[in-house]
Amino acid sequence: MGRLAGVLLALRGRRSRQNRGNIMNAPLREPTFRESVDIMFNRAVKFMDLSPGLEEKIRVCNSTYTVRFGVRLRGEIKTFTGYRSVHSEHMEPVKGGIRFAANVHQDEVEALAALMTFKCALVEVPFGGSKGGLRIDPREWEEHEMELITRRFAYELAKRDLINPSQNVPAPDMGTGEREMAWIVDQYRRMNTTDINAAACVTGKPLNAGGIAGRVEATGRGVQYSLREFFRHPDDMKAAGLDGTLEGKRVIVQGLGNVGYHAAKFLSEEDGCRIVGVIERDGAIINDKGIPIEFLKTHIGATGGVKGFPRGTYVEDGHKVLEEDCDILIPAALESVINLGNAERIKAPLIVEAANGPVTAGADEILRARGKVIMPDLYVNAGGVTVSYFEWVKNLSHIRFGRMQRRQEEAQNALIVNEIERILRDSGATMGISDAFKSEYVRGAGELELVRSGLDDTMRTAYQSMREVWHGRKDVEDLRIAAYIVSIGRVAASYRSKGL
Ligand code: NAD
Repeated sequence: MGRLAGVLLALRGRRSRQNRGNIMNAPLREPTFRESVDIMFNRAVKFMDLSPGLEEKIRVCNSTYTVRFGVRLRGEIKTFTGYRSVHSEHMEPVKGGIRFAANVHQDEVEALAALMTFKCALVEVPFGGSKGGLRIDPREWEEHEMELITRRFAYELAKRDLINPSQNVPAPDMGTGEREMAWIVDQYRRMNTTDINAAACVTGKPLNAGGIAGRVEATGRGVQYSLREFFRHPDDMKAAGLDGTLEGKRVIVQGLGNVGYHAAKFLSEEDGCRIVGVIERDGAIINDKGIPIEFLKTHIGATGGVKGFPRGTYVEDGHKVLEEDCDILIPAALESVINLGNAERIKAPLIVEAANGPVTAGADEILRARGKVIMPDLYVNAGGVTVSYFEWVKNLSHIRFGRMQRRQEEAQNALIVNEIERILRDSGATMGISDAFKSEYVRGAGELELVRSGLDDTMRTAYQSMREVWHGRKDVEDLRIAAYIVSIGRVAASYRSKGL
């Protein structure tokens, strides 16, 4: 209760400026997602020297547009509610995914938009923060109905420039993917027939609709790169009570959607992690020997859930599996899943926030006090927006990455290899360069290689910037606050340069 009181005091502190009378009577309760983001922001700005005015300007969400629109479906008019929040326009366009979920609401969208501002700043992609949501359960509708609904939502946003290559560029999020982005770009094109940069109005598109290689996997790939970077630093591992490498580490993942599936797949297939638990909507599968992710994904595709999967034990109360013993816990589904109700029982020493906001501010405080290390969402899942940035640049430059250089690079590499082979031959060496090395070395980088390289570099550089604050300042005790300090500092610098 002591820690909870601390969180609530932080919450009250923020609100007291707005409404001191009411807040002191507020019940002790879990902060909402939006309040959690504010509490974390408040913790960070305490370490910074910002004027109160600038602090408030950065904290608040600039605007939220709510739209209610009707679509004729199944013989009647159905009304849907959608949102697009713009948190900060210190850089434009603003950027952030569109979520399709039955419980989407304004506060959630605004919290997600704020996270986008800080995420973009942390990984140095030149966008402000935004987010969208449509209150809908996509599983209740046929594909052609989803297309009508998505196009109508896109129309409503595009006509107010809330979808626009130079002002507001959405992307996929929970419940949306390449399919929806393809409908959105097509809708924008129909409304803006002469806009030569129309393809840049949204990212996460399929390759044949102006997408970029590696975008679908990008967020999960970024989770993998963030963990690889963490495991390059013995001091950081020590802080979490871990050592060694990723090889053999036991991992539990919640959510086998776009982010969780790719993260689990890459970590198990490429880094030797053992995925000992997967939590989904209908329960969880546990197997200490490791769960074959591709096989489980196929099972979910065929049956709609994890139940009945033959290579592990089914646990009906999947949520409980968050509390199982493992080295790395990766919540990759929903917000607020680690909260005041279970934080005391979380065993994993390292929590990797692949989802947005999976740990509430109250749980964050408890986990920190218990010595857990949390890699924060604004860093861990930034791979998506990073590759979205590459896609936007590709769309504006109208040329695939690597198209001009690839063969020239190959020719240069072949020159070197041929020369070395000539020298070896002339000097009578009995050994030559192996064919495997030759073809690997000579090959020029295509778009996918360049995207992965750019993403890897981004995740490493961002980690270094957080780490410098985490270890460099005695008063900063966790990676999340370090990340916020870096991001808020950059947003503040951008506002100052505009004269604010
Ligand atoms: P998704 O819709 O592809 O996958 C979500 C998964 O979570 C699904 O498999 C779903 O069945 C599962 N799920 C839903 N409710 C659950 C529950 N109660 N318990 C366990 N599992 C449940 O979504 P996504 O794109 O993978 O997004 C997941 C998270 O990652 C979200 O927080 C999102 O904001 C964040 N994120 C996504 C991206 C991206 O590029 N897609 C980028 C950054 C952050």
